[in-house]
Amino acid sequence: MKRTLIVSFALFLAAFAIPLLAAGQPSGIGDTTPSPSEQSPPIPPDTVPPSPGEPSPLLPETPISTGAESLGADDIIPILYEGSVLNIPLRDYLYGAVTAEMPALYPEEALKAQAVAIRTLVCYASEHPYHGEALLCSDWECCLAFAPIEENKASWGNEYDTYASYVRAAVDNTDGEIITYLDEPIEAMFFSASPGGRTRSAAEVWGAEVPYLQSVDSPFDVDFPGGPHGHGVGMSQFGARQLALDGLTYREILRWYYTGVEITGEEPAGLVPAGS
Ligand SMILES: [Zn+2]
Repeated sequence: MKRTLIVSFALFLAAFAIPLLAAGQPSGIGDTTPSPSEQSPPIPPDTVPPSPGEPSPLLPETPISTGAESLGADDIIPILYEGSVLNIPLRDYLYGAVTAEMPALYPEEALKAQAVAIRTLVCYASEHPYHGEALLCSDWECCLAFAPIEENKASWGNEYDTYASYVRAAVDNTDGEIITYLDEPIEAMFFSASPGGRTRSAAEVWGAEVPYLQSVDSPFDVDFPGGPHGHGVGMSQFGARQLALDGLTYREILRWYYTGVEITGEEPAGLVPAGS
């Protein structure tokens, strides 16, 4: 009888309690509401509203190499997009995800920091996929917002080429660069802004210590104009914007928010401030 009770309790745990615990996990790696209003000019009244459009053509399936630290721009990655797996070159994924996650008019160094953070997340996911066969999904509440960059043509209107060029430059000019801790790609969390003026540690929010996700100062975030702020762990996008305006490089911004990390690739010449 007692044994039956124990077994029953174990079954109860498996059936209810564990899924409940899992449900308490963070919603969204990026945890930023896509904010098209911030990055898009108002749509002229006579413009046709954006339609879902054609999904990007499915590309031939190429198995990705697991365990690789850095994926190349041409590597095909599987993403869960609009209910099915989209196999897409990393480059195109980054164009779409950076666009969906950060206003295209944020400063260049902030966009580059965002591009490196998302590339790092893809590399992290290639070793720890969030969705089985797909590395990430395109739901911002679960993983990261994503849509092919071409889908912004309607909302960006005449500015499409200009805005798309900002995003593409941020991705292309950081090609192959990822953030590492102990030579492994990090789970590069980010969020909109931390209203308290400090980011939060992973231990504080999720109860698990992650050495590179510590609480750091982000004092400028108190000026964030509104909307959801996010979980507060990792890089503050609004803070990255302010640091970029203050003259920090994307590498300095990333090292500000991710404790004790390295960024692969060469330090770009001429960007290191004199005297440092
Ligand atoms: Zn997801």
